[in-house]
This record gives sequence, C-alpha cells and structure tokens, in this order.
Amino acid sequence: MNHFIFLLEDLNKKIKILADYIRNAKHFVVYTGAGISTSAGINDFRGPNGVWTAQARGIASPPSTVRHPVPTLTHMAYVELMKNNYLQFLVSQNCDGLHLKSGIPNDRIAELHGNGSCEACAKCGKVYYRQTDIFGYEHLTWLTGRYCTEPTCRGRLRCTTVSFNQSMPDVCLDRATEQSQKCDLSLCMGTSMRVMPACELPAMNVKSGKKKMVIVSKCDHVYYIIFFFSYL
Ligand SMILES: [Zn+2]
Repeated sequence: MNHFIFLLEDLNKKIKILADYIRNAKHFVVYTGAGISTSAGINDFRGPNGVWTAQARGIASPPSTVRHPVPTLTHMAYVELMKNNYLQFLVSQNCDGLHLKSGIPNDRIAELHGNGSCEACAKCGKVYYRQTDIFGYEHLTWLTGRYCTEPTCRGRLRCTTVSFNQSMPDVCLDRATEQSQKCDLSLCMGTSMRVMPACELPAMNVKSGKKKMVIVSKCDHVYYIIFFFSYL
C-alpha cells in the first residue's frame, strides 16, 4: 500500500510538470498508439494482452472485448485540449478511427497507418468515412468494390489502412513531419514508438534544446488526474 501511495505521489508530481509544459507550449503535438485504445476494448500490439505478445507466446490473440468501440477519456481529453487551443495537432499510428469519432477535425490529424472505416478514391483522392469498418476488400489491390461518387471521376475506392509491408501515404507523413518540425512540445502516449518512420517524428529537432519530449504510458489515469485536479 505504501508503495502504491509513493508511486501515485510521484505520478502526481510528474503530471503537474506535464500540465505546466502543456500550458507553456507554443506548438504542442501528441503522438498516439494502440495503448490509448485498449480501454476502449481494442487490443494493442506489445502490451500484456497484445497481438504480438500473444504470438510470441504461441497463443491466439485475445478477441476484442467490444463490437463497436467508442472513444476513451484520453481521446476526449485531446478534443478538449484542441478546443481550448492547447493542442495544435495529433499524429496517430492507430487505424481504429477513434480520434475522428471523438471529434478531432480531419485537418488537425495525420493517421499514419490509415483508418479502418475510411476508403479513398484511387483516381482523385476523395476520402469517404463510413459508419463501420470496411470489410471484404481485395487483399492484393485493397479495392473495396465501390466507386467514387464524383460524377466526373467514378474512380475505384481503396481501403486506407497500411499494413507492415506497405509504405505510409506521403501526404500523411509530410503533414506529420511538418508539424513535428514546428512543435516545441511532443507527447507520446500509448506507443512504444518502435515503428519507423513514425518513431523518428516526436524527437525531430529535440537536440536544438527548444523542444521538450514526454513519454507517457498510463493514458486514462494521467488525463483523469490532469482534468479532475484542474491543472488546466
Ligand atoms: Zn474520385
């Protein structure tokens, strides 16, 4: 019990420092990974119940616990931070679409690995967000069988998620790089930042001394304390 109290006090001190960083930042960018969606019932990759962890143990990945996941406290905290002009941009490695569902505008986020409920026209690039995940696409071409509704285009639509052997869409990576160069506070949450090139972004320009970088793993707990103990 004493050990727990010591850890919590330690965490409170660190969170107060983080809240000060957020208040004083000029261009704050958050980088998220699968860990921020585990409390929504979606498995991460390297956590205790993660997909890769299960594979390494030679067991089947545990099934997701919910059919229609909804944004978590952490997702909603980013919306509030953005509405109040503390947070300028989000870079996510998640394909679950929960940031957009939570209300983050699509011009303030780069979804580096795509979005499971979004398809895009292979000809004109128009993006279509759907209510549910996109199934039944061809695995070699990623074509979904639907067509662009622009009368002058009618191009074929493709699933936008990126698998391990595919490169990221240039437009997403370019926006994420531009924001990472501008930013003076980068916060990594729910990600072990091991996948290239996403892992290079938060530390971009950090050696200049004008940028701070913070890595947090206990997402919902941290935002609960930040908001309910009113540091912001
Ligand atoms: Zn089109």
